[in-house]
Amino acid sequence: MTAAVRWPASARYEVQDSAPGGLGFVQDLLNTASMGKPRQPDLLESLDAAEQWLKSSLATLTHVDSSAPPPHALDARGLGRLRSLREALRAALATGHGEEAAVAVAVPSIETTAAITLGTDGAQLHPRGKGVEGIRSYVLVQLAAATYADTMRRLKVCANPRCRGAFYDRSKNCSRLWHDVTTCGNTQNVRAYRARLKERGLSSPN
Ligand SMILES: [Zn+2]
Repeated sequence: MTAAVRWPASARYEVQDSAPGGLGFVQDLLNTASMGKPRQPDLLESLDAAEQWLKSSLATLTHVDSSAPPPHALDARGLGRLRSLREALRAALATGHGEEAAVAVAVPSIETTAAITLGTDGAQLHPRGKGVEGIRSYVLVQLAAATYADTMRRLKVCANPRCRGAFYDRSKNCSRLWHDVTTCGNTQNVRAYRARLKERGLSSPN
């Protein structure tokens, strides 16, 4: 179903599972971060790189969502807002590993606006705003929809603190910890992960 869909940032980390629909774009935004071995560049580092990624990722998005926001030029402020959205989201998802929560790292709050319309198919959330604000609204609308559909818990970041690659957990009991079990889920990382949880009095999910 999603075989033809290639998300440009996620493709760099051999992420096997893409989130469905517009949530795949959110996952791609998360994977613009610098990670991997060898280290891949941060795609939101410069305006040029960010515009190129946005154009390519939004083109992919049109294959899975007909209401995809249009590509647009970025300025420094817009890029900063895109980056802060990514960082807040990464921090929020990392709390799933019980680490950031335990050390009380505050997840910055992100606000945007959306429209709600009532139609024959019920009430629907729609992104609002132009340019980067439209993108930020689109991302939060996707997250709200995923929260209500109970698929939000499947969007995860890798338990390896040096990685944090975003993946979509399709496992039956939603218990995956690593974006790629062969690279990040090696014995050394698993041991370090358990030790970190134990140190903070938390139990391992498996
Ligand atoms: Zn990983």
